[in-house]
Amino acid sequence: MGLLDRVTFSKPPADPPESIDVTPEQALRIAWPGGRVATIAAKALRDRCPCAGCIEEGTGRKLLDPATIPDDIRPDRIDPVGNYAIQIHWSDGHSTGLYTWQTLREASGLA
Ligand SMILES: [Zn+2]
Repeated sequence: MGLLDRVTFSKPPADPPESIDVTPEQALRIAWPGGRVATIAAKALRDRCPCAGCIEEGTGRKLLDPATIPDDIRPDRIDPVGNYAIQIHWSDGHSTGLYTWQTLREASGLA
């Protein structure tokens, strides 16, 4: 018995989106397999940042005050992270959050 025999996963990995576009209104338009398309406002997605600076590790308590997010927040750059997430570089300088497919599904109202 090696250690690998003990690895378990709480959830299966979510399917990746087919495409992610930034709309002229700076929202993210995400096309999911099966034809569902979700448009998520930049501010709403910034508010969901899952990084350790925005969500307390362990407790899951939210540390980010939504009032501190600029109304004109926009994604300056979006980088793929492996095949499980994207990293969004926000116009407020914040870029530490990795948005997994599961996070994006939840933001899309699909999870
Ligand atoms: Zn964050």
